Amino acid sequence: MATQTKDYYSTLGVKKTATSDDIRKAFRKLARKYHPDVNPNDKKAEEKFKEISEANDVLSDEKKRKIYDQLGFYSDNIDPAAAEAAARGGYGGGAPGQSGRGGQEVPFDFSGFDFSGFQGDGRGRERGGAEQASGTGFGGSFRDIFGGMFSGGQKSRGPQPGTDLEYQVSVDFWTAVRGGSIRLEIQRQESCPACKGKSTTGGSIECPECHGTGQVTQMGGRMKFNIQCPKCGGTGKIQNECPTCDGEGVVTRREPLEFRIKAGTRDGQRIRLAGKGNAGTDGGAAGDLYLIVKAGTHPVFRRVGDDIHVTVPVTIAEAALGAKIDVPTIDTHADGAHEGGGRTQLKIPPGTQTGQKLRLREKGVPSASREGARGDEIVEVKVVVPKVQDERSKEILRELAKLNPEDPRAEMLSEV
Ligand SMILES: [Zn+2]
Ligand SMILES: [Zn+2]
Repeated sequence: MATQTKDYYSTLGVKKTATSDDIRKAFRKLARKYHPDVNPNDKKAEEKFKEISEANDVLSDEKKRKIYDQLGFYSDNIDPAAAEAAARGGYGGGAPGQSGRGGQEVPFDFSGFDFSGFQGDGRGRERGGAEQASGTGFGGSFRDIFGGMFSGGQKSRGPQPGTDLEYQVSVDFWTAVRGGSIRLEIQRQESCPACKGKSTTGGSIECPECHGTGQVTQMGGRMKFNIQCPKCGGTGKIQNECPTCDGEGVVTRREPLEFRIKAGTRDGQRIRLAGKGNAGTDGGAAGDLYLIVKAGTHPVFRRVGDDIHVTVPVTIAEAALGAKIDVPTIDTHADGAHEGGGRTQLKIPPGTQTGQKLRLREKGVPSASREGARGDEIVEVKVVVPKVQDERSKEILRELAKLNPEDPRAEMLSEV
């Protein structure tokens, strides 16, 4: 396919007003003259015969001729529905891109377009290869040069799903551990109550952009040409916008939200509330609401997953001799009135070192994912050394040192 638009009428030597009978007769006459059987090994005649066949193919077909007359070219790649719409002077039919590359070029009215200027355009030449391949002659580069015009378009119609929302929710330590109800205020788009999400109140008015013509004039360099009106999509009319939502179909509302979080909810956990995101329009499904939990900390308890870590100081005597000590836990104290945690007894074995960890099974956080499961509490022992002031204590410690002369650094020093 050549890059030049072709004058099929002059190829067949007929007027633009020629009847289908005129065209048929003209073609037969030329075909007899240039037929390859009559002109063996004549390249020029063969070329000419191809041209008249092509011209006849388009002009003898009423539909194809109509498209050719309207657009100045014809290609099988043109979406028939869209071409039909274009031939009527509007564009509302086939979806763009539905049937090959030709589809999107159709909204243009080429009648006001100077093709010779276009051919002289540097970008046009540069893209020669693509043009050849496109089948429409100039489709590829045409779309590239004027591609920006396709981006406008009319507001998409039909149901549109709502978008998801994401909120970070601060949850205090105890609520995250034990579960509870959280209140917050969210801002979301809900379906417009006035138009029920349809964006329109029914009826239509003349498009103010094109004054009802469906086409607007654009300048492309020195060239002036008509394109389908981007505001009304070439229909010349626009739907009455719903005044409540300005045609958006949704209105933004702040609304209180109360939800329960499970015991054992972790920091960073995402909670999905289906259908609580932004409302869709025109019957589209609502998005989801995601709550990202920011769990609070506690001065004593440290959560690691479902385990609770706590560092507990013990005296030298307790660590050396062993002891039963009270340690804090997240369980409510036996008196019931206590809001925070409670305590439980832990046996410190004799000879416990600082940094040693002791495990209290199932004294951790209830699992939010596994029913009935619970983490552990890990108690890290921290031996505290007494600040001895009196002579008697010092004496006892010196005596203790004499009785235990082992150097605690001996092993370490032997390894360096
Ligand atoms: Zn509305
Ligand atoms: Zn318009």
